Amino acid sequence: MQEKPYFCPNCRSNRIKFSIISSYSQRFLKDAITGTVQQVTEPEAIEGQEPTIQCLVCQFTGNELRFIKQAEREPRESTSINTIY
Ligand SMILES: [Zn+2]
Repeated sequence: MQEKPYFCPNCRSNRIKFSIISSYSQRFLKDAITGTVQQVTEPEAIEGQEPTIQCLVCQFTGNELRFIKQAEREPRESTSINTIY
């Protein structure tokens, strides 16, 4: 996840509230007969994948880059820093 401003390209009203959806790999052993899960390892993030970001205002999901690009296209006005969302 990058330390850059986001701006939702869909509703274009949200720069603050997001959720990250990423892929994890988690190993487990299964019992061959009963199908019971025997042993589970800690989830590990899959390297090199661009995270998917969800806007918590309109529920739009997309690549992180789309949110970053939208923020770059429409940077927040420094004069409206006191605006309450
Ligand atoms: Zn949105």
